[in-house]
Amino acid sequence: MKAIDSTELYFNRAADLLDLSDNIRTLLIQPKREVQVQVAIERDNGEIATYVGYRVQHDDARGPMKGGLRYHPDVDLDEVRSLAALMTWKTAVVNLPYGGAKGGISVDPTKISRRELEKITRAFIDGIHDVIGPDIDIPAPDMGTTAEVMAWIMNQYGKYHGFNPGVVTGKPVEMHGLPGREEATGRGVGTLTLKTLSRLGRKPQQTRVAIQGFGNVGFHTAKFLSDAECKIVAASDVSGGYYKPDGLDIPAMLRYSLQNKGLSGYAEAELITNEQVLELDVDCLIPAALGGVITSKNAAKIRAPIIIEAANSPTYPDADDELHARGIVVLPDILANAGGVTGSYFEWVQNRQHYQWTLDRVRQELDAVMTKSFERVWEVANERRVSLRTAAYIVGIGRVGRATVLGGIA
Ligand code: NAD
Repeated sequence: MKAIDSTELYFNRAADLLDLSDNIRTLLIQPKREVQVQVAIERDNGEIATYVGYRVQHDDARGPMKGGLRYHPDVDLDEVRSLAALMTWKTAVVNLPYGGAKGGISVDPTKISRRELEKITRAFIDGIHDVIGPDIDIPAPDMGTTAEVMAWIMNQYGKYHGFNPGVVTGKPVEMHGLPGREEATGRGVGTLTLKTLSRLGRKPQQTRVAIQGFGNVGFHTAKFLSDAECKIVAASDVSGGYYKPDGLDIPAMLRYSLQNKGLSGYAEAELITNEQVLELDVDCLIPAALGGVITSKNAAKIRAPIIIEAANSPTYPDADDELHARGIVVLPDILANAGGVTGSYFEWVQNRQHYQWTLDRVRQELDAVMTKSFERVWEVANERRVSLRTAAYIVGIGRVGRATVLGGIA
């Protein structure tokens, strides 16, 4: 199944329950704009290389479009389209005044130099600068992109349009970034994991957690949950899974990962595969890397009774149905990882006010938004007797649908 098909399937399920009219459905399914550009650079060895860059702007009924920029060899138009639609529902679930967009370049950032990465980023912005902007579409980091990449975007955009820090979020704190933006997604995932545990009558101290992915989201989630006394028994990155039944030393793993550019060779745990990480006998599983990792092929082998989707689209619909039928509680991506876009929203607000927020304020407001959104979705799931995913889509699509009608479509 293609990524866009699964997003549409989740959309249609909730739209049926909402009795959404065919006209509104048609408007909400089709992206507003799709841009594909050639990104050409001269490599360090003097050769010319070209890459394909995408920006899909899905919907702006509730405000400027917002969404990350992914650098990964698997990026294609289908994936970006699906992630752009997810952003529309995500910003609406947490009630931010935004629509949804997503971008990406099909490139492996680990196989090129920093100088080449900067050239690629600037060439991409040359191609799309006239369709983004603080009131139009605001990129942010995603897999393979960092605060430094966001700083290059702000700088390149500024060459065409002048000083505009609100054109991109996830920037370095020293360059109009938000204290706490980097941890925001993981903090949100951690906060909602604790809320889910509490609703299910479980204690953090008795919760064994496995996390797939040890990048921005995976690491901050691991740190937040280990500070909350959960036992992180497995973590993984592209090099494999690292398993220690007594609990991993998360700060030591981070130091190792920073020094060695990944976890490869980490010797303080048993090496297992990424597939095994997903199938461990744990209380809570957190996919925090790629999409499409829980499928009909491995759903029956998943043993965790709770799954928190920190990654975007980690679960395909047929697997999701199977998990739901088995009583496994899945906190969906459009709610679980919305701490990132919420932090981005705070950064954008700060940029527009030219006033820097404190870390305490950021954390307090982030926790408030995530908690309120979680409670609303939980309530809808109970009222309508649907999964948390369908409930989150009902909340998100309902808000976007109302804004579309109120704005008028003639
Ligand atoms: P990142 O690039 O910082 O880290 C990605 C991690 O995944 C790394 O540890 C990498 O080694 C690992 N990985 C890559 N390929 C893998 C594979 N084949 N198997 C197992 N692990 C693999 O990315 P990130 O920002 O942490 O994003 C992770 C996920 O969270 C993505 O799905 C992204 O869309 C989602 N997300 C990110 C943010 C954000 O603010 N960064 C916000 C919302 C959602």
